[in-house]
Amino acid sequence: MTPIRLYHTMAREKRVFEPADPKRVTMYVCGPTVYNRAHIGNARPAVVFDVLARLLRHTYGEQSLVYARNVTDVDDKIIDAAREEGVDPSVITDRFERHYVEDMGALGVRTPDIAPRATEHVAEMIAMIARLVETGHAYEADGHVLFHVPSDPDYGALGRRDRDAMIAGARVEVASYKRDPADFVLWKPSDPQVIGWDSPWGRGRPGWHIECSAMIERHLGHTIDIHGGGLDLIFPHHENEIAQSRCAHGGAPLARYWLHNGFLSMAGSEKMSKSLGNVVTVGELLEQGHKGETLRLALLSAHYRQPLEWSSQLIAQSKATLDRLYRSAGEAAAGEVDEGVIEALGDDLNTPLALSRLSAVEDPAMLRASAELLGLLGSTGLEWFQGEGDTRIDDLVAARAAAKAERNFAEADRIRSELAEKGVLLEDGPAGTTWRRA
Ligand code: AMP
Ligand code: ZN
Repeated sequence: MTPIRLYHTMAREKRVFEPADPKRVTMYVCGPTVYNRAHIGNARPAVVFDVLARLLRHTYGEQSLVYARNVTDVDDKIIDAAREEGVDPSVITDRFERHYVEDMGALGVRTPDIAPRATEHVAEMIAMIARLVETGHAYEADGHVLFHVPSDPDYGALGRRDRDAMIAGARVEVASYKRDPADFVLWKPSDPQVIGWDSPWGRGRPGWHIECSAMIERHLGHTIDIHGGGLDLIFPHHENEIAQSRCAHGGAPLARYWLHNGFLSMAGSEKMSKSLGNVVTVGELLEQGHKGETLRLALLSAHYRQPLEWSSQLIAQSKATLDRLYRSAGEAAAGEVDEGVIEALGDDLNTPLALSRLSAVEDPAMLRASAELLGLLGSTGLEWFQGEGDTRIDDLVAARAAAKAERNFAEADRIRSELAEKGVLLEDGPAGTTWRRA
């Protein structure tokens, strides 16, 4: 068995991955808040952890992984979106969960084994909060229930920030009812017109962090093997998940390995985020005619912990790489997996190395099987190239006509020779240009 080494955020180093039980490997990844369409940055963790899931299934057996990715379907941004449209929050969350599933499906992301929704686990959250109150880790104040950070001496071990940085980072405003400025909300009151559930602390709704702790406990257990998400979640979200779960479970750690993907940015700008307005959604990219698999390869072209710059060149390169891989794979069925590709993935999911090794695999059957580990070459060659040749030729013919209209004859001639190289002959007639294959 090829060893898998993973960069464990808490240890700040790569470690050999050893599941607690190789027959039941558990992984949880924080999923989307469903109030808008996923942008291509949001797709990065989905694709990265999908590759990890494929590698784990390959290593430990198809049935040995239990992979859960939650759906955050109660949140103030959802409440705001519902209010704006004058609909129930479930209208918003149903719509955008459906979009998310479709968009990730287009990127070749397999549906996780479990996709728990927060709203379906409020009872579990209330039970966990009650336990934290009973054991002195949480307290009720002004209709809220807060986790008392100083009650957990190990708080902050994941991000290793000092206390002042954590308080500054978490602070929207330090509410007067907090015993300590670092304390965070487990439960908050809901006005009558806002979504809410009855609880021992009155009608309200959960804070963000408690949902993951409660859903992990319910579906995967007290200590899981791998917990993942984007870099931005380390603090406060994951730090708070850790504290809640550990204090509710008598000190048992929440996860044995913590993995975080780096950020995707638009070329020439900072991280892609809605508030910066530099967002391109997966849906838009698909509508522009890019194939999901091309976008997937582009997302895997950089190592998952490195920043990734999104650009049209990156998409074009990824498309060209896939054309080449599909040509090499032909119509072969999947055979054995190439050891070099597994090895690269086993080294902290080194997808750029895995992709370059993939390109060097000569045996088409082996190429297909190895590509499958990366979630690539899912179609037949015929499907991949279908229709596309003609569209591309039509585009070139149109570009040549435009060049001629601008009297740019050099460009028009260049396009004519490019087409000739592809075996396409042009015939200029009174009704425009037609083409045929030589
Ligand atoms: P959200 O729906 O905002 O909760 O985000 C879903 C996931 O996408 C989280 O794991 C985030 O860390 C991740 N994420 C958000 N923006 C980016 C980005 N620009 N690049 C990479 N990951 C991101
Ligand atoms: Zn989470």
